[in-house]
Amino acid sequence: MRRFCALLCLSAIGVADDNRSLPDRTRQYLVDLIKIDSSNPPGNETAVANYLKQVADSHAISCDLMGNDDKRKNFVARLKGSGRGRPLLLMAHSDVVPVERKEWTVDPFSGENRNGYIYGRGAEDDKSLLAAEIAVLVEIKRRNIKLGRDVILLSEADAEANSSGIQYMLQHAYQKIDAEFALNEGGSILETKDGPKIFEIETAEKIPIRLILTAKGTAGDASLPRADNPITHLNRALLKLSEAEQPAKLNATTRRYLRDISKLAEYSWLAPLIRTLDNPNAAIQQAAASQIRAKDPELDAMLHTTVAATMLNAGTKNNVIPTTAQAQVDVRRLPNETKEDVIARFRQTINDPAVDITLAPGPQLPATDPSPMTTPLYLAMGHAIGRTYPRDLVVPYMAPGATDSSFLRAHGMPVYGVPVFVRDAGDTRVHGNDERISPKNLEDGVELLWQIVLEIAGGGQ
Ligand SMILES: [Zn+2]
Repeated sequence: MRRFCALLCLSAIGVADDNRSLPDRTRQYLVDLIKIDSSNPPGNETAVANYLKQVADSHAISCDLMGNDDKRKNFVARLKGSGRGRPLLLMAHSDVVPVERKEWTVDPFSGENRNGYIYGRGAEDDKSLLAAEIAVLVEIKRRNIKLGRDVILLSEADAEANSSGIQYMLQHAYQKIDAEFALNEGGSILETKDGPKIFEIETAEKIPIRLILTAKGTAGDASLPRADNPITHLNRALLKLSEAEQPAKLNATTRRYLRDISKLAEYSWLAPLIRTLDNPNAAIQQAAASQIRAKDPELDAMLHTTVAATMLNAGTKNNVIPTTAQAQVDVRRLPNETKEDVIARFRQTINDPAVDITLAPGPQLPATDPSPMTTPLYLAMGHAIGRTYPRDLVVPYMAPGATDSSFLRAHGMPVYGVPVFVRDAGDTRVHGNDERISPKNLEDGVELLWQIVLEIAGGGQ
């Protein structure tokens, strides 16, 4: 039923939106995109690709659907430039994470406007960026703006699970997305209490590792408790891991980030602590990290590899002690530590021969160097943001979460998480319930993206 309605609604788009403003068109695209349920699994991203194709076709923008799964196509569009520079790639993912429907107060696939917000799965992650990017392409085309380089849009499938979309493009159609550099999700704007905004350009990411902890013991009747009960051993291991201090380490991105934000009144408390973080004495360094954690847990996550237990599996019957107990833990590793370092340290912390640590099956994201702060795109973002928001701060940022940017970075392409939308610190609903974005946030965001794209790709002759 939903599908039928979606198709009906879409058929009107190409003709209806010709004279809308850039923000109006973006808002319409976002609501339309939210209405297409692309929860992953199963994804069904082809429905998103078909929608984008319809928009592109109605404005004579050349595009393709690409991928080896008919239900999970990527969408690629291109506006030609003069060729003076190599292409700019705009990317966003077309899938969303599933919803816990009973926890939502609105239909997550309605795009409903309530209390001054647009609600729906994908409103923040990542359909707002996708809507803004296709709207910018349409705007360039409508105004017939001459470009100095091609501008490519990639809407990729499966970013929320196995990254099969970006991997398909890399392996089978790289020439379609080959670019000098790219903009993706991962950046955001942080509002501070005393006024200035912090525009966080994501240049680096922490690297996820999924680990399995397996405790082994002897099965037996629960009426005779055993010291080698694997559930007890696993519990102890998880507790030790969660309570252990992971060493604090700065890299070029986080050092610069902390130094720059410490110039703001709200973060001036950081200045003396940053110096202490480089102290070779582990105890002194840890004390500084603890002070940062007490004030701002998000900043603290930038300093360490983090670990969170996420899944448990043990036992089949209440009166039987099982032979094994298993837990999965989600680790976000600092890019300057190897996974071997991390696993060795965890083994030492757990210090129990009954508990083994292995890597969970499935793909591991590649580890990459940060994208440089010296490329024309990074500098163009600084200029465009500085023009529109002269009082505010632009900083490089290492995101705690992972995106598909790492695949392109590993391929040698600089990729930046573009800070166009304000993130609600303390009330982020990304992957949560009642995900939403305010129309003002969306409008300001697409205007800024427009400025950035023109700054780096405009002016062709
Ligand atoms: Zn995302």
